[in-house]
Amino acid sequence: MSLEALNEQVKRDLSYLNFGGPDWVRPHKHPEGHVYDVIIVGGGQSGLAAAFGLLRERISNILLIDENPEGQEGPWDTYARMETLRTPKHLTSVDLGIPSLTYRSWWEAQFGAKGWEEVDKIPRGDWMNYLKWYRSILNLPLINNMKLSLIEPEAYGMYRVHVERNGYPSSPLFARKVILATGIQGGGEWHVPSMISDKLPRSLYAHTSERIDYNKLKGKKIGILGGGASAFDNANYALSKGVSEAHVFVRREKMQRINPIRQMEVSGMIERFHSLPDSDKYDAINHFFKHNQPPTNDTFNRACSWSGFHLHLGSPWLDVESSDIGAVVTTPKGQFSFDYLIISTGLVTDPALRPELKLVENSIARWGDKYKAPAECANPLLDAHPYLTPGFGLLSRDDKGKKSLHGLFAFNYSALISCGIAASALSGMRFGIPKLVTTVADQLFLDDREEILEDFFSYNEEEFTGEWSKQEENIDLEALQGK
Ligand SMILES: Cc1cc2nc3c(=O)[nH]c(=O)nc-3n(C[C@H](O)[C@H](O)[C@H](O)COP(=O)(O)OP(=O)(O)OC[C@H]3O[C@@H](n4cnc5c(N)ncnc54)[C@H](O)[C@@H]3O)c2cc1C
Repeated sequence: MSLEALNEQVKRDLSYLNFGGPDWVRPHKHPEGHVYDVIIVGGGQSGLAAAFGLLRERISNILLIDENPEGQEGPWDTYARMETLRTPKHLTSVDLGIPSLTYRSWWEAQFGAKGWEEVDKIPRGDWMNYLKWYRSILNLPLINNMKLSLIEPEAYGMYRVHVERNGYPSSPLFARKVILATGIQGGGEWHVPSMISDKLPRSLYAHTSERIDYNKLKGKKIGILGGGASAFDNANYALSKGVSEAHVFVRREKMQRINPIRQMEVSGMIERFHSLPDSDKYDAINHFFKHNQPPTNDTFNRACSWSGFHLHLGSPWLDVESSDIGAVVTTPKGQFSFDYLIISTGLVTDPALRPELKLVENSIARWGDKYKAPAECANPLLDAHPYLTPGFGLLSRDDKGKKSLHGLFAFNYSALISCGIAASALSGMRFGIPKLVTTVADQLFLDDREEILEDFFSYNEEEFTGEWSKQEENIDLEALQGK
């Protein structure tokens, strides 16, 4: 099969499912402009899949926006530096159950069914190409180079969405629902320990989430802080670009070996996570944070195969100083000098860190408001996460916020404690997206229920067109009565 033939099959499959039927949602008006039923912020895989899910529900008055140029959405072609995805190739995700929309269908259409068995993991670039194809075959309404800057609640159930285009303020958009499909950092920000950001000039370090020009570091010696997968991805990538030495510093004495996501994928912990009591959710994500994901074996082995690769276990950075040639790092096992530092210390989540939530964040209920963890496992990092409904809706900690948060959804990393990894990894998407879509659709329906019911009760369009035969009516009553 060719890609052209697959494109035809996708169209046929969708037509068999009556995809694209007329909308049921009632149009709303705003004096200043068109009102979208839903604006989805973020054109990565979550935003794209949410849009497809809404279209399947016959909600087509929607718009997707992404701050990046076309094809640069999400980490894949921007700051991710691993060769392949970590997710097993067989897991389905944005296809939402349509076989012809799966990555496998897309791959086999180009390279043939036989080769699929030999594919180990999905190459990063191929995954991005698949997402580009998915967006295009489904004709999803995504505007690039448009950044959400502020969400301003107006009347109940209406948002003024302030945006920037190419860095400049643009006319606001209006929406009844806003879905924040804004990815890893969308619920907070990337984390650089203050020991580094306070003491070193910006020219001496970068976080792994930044676009780093490794060509400029050719022949240089770099130090990488962090024991997660990205630290090793960056070491390997940097060495492949000609960096002379890449030293990875890990706090633990031993490398993390267990990947809790693999257990979650087979135990119901992804699809049923939302049904756990709060105490279990909190404990489970606390455990997840402690273990996190180790690097994949291939990334680790690739990094180790370079003579310039060095691993320092049991070596947290105790101090950093700038020096004549770069930076000096102090660990319990000695001091090391580097030309440049790469920081791979993850992120922190807190709605207060998001500029677009400035007007509402004060009202957003956090885990710390709703659940008091026992002292021995209380974790302020978890407490700062928003406390969401099972359908990813933000909840209010006060009466004032109820009105302004009604219609705001967080399908990003900040959903972790409330909804598990359904919005944070490919493994969870096929469970998370349908829940999100159902909740948004229910809300659109319930917001208008008075009018919808009024229309229902007053409905008088005739469907039945049968005619009663006059002859049958002319029964001779007198004859029947024997007169
Ligand atoms: C290095 C790396 C490797 C990873 N590998 C895997 C993996 O193998 N498997 C896996 O399942 N997950 C992996 N992940 C997690 C990965 O981030 C998610 O699976 C995936 O990117 C989530 O998709 P998303 O659409 O939710 O977010 P993203 O893909 O991050 O997309 C969000 C989009 O929203 C845009 N955006 C954010 N804020 C705004 C705004 N204010 N206005 C407009 N646009 C905005 C962003 O720029 C981005 O384009 C990896 C993450 C990283 C960083």
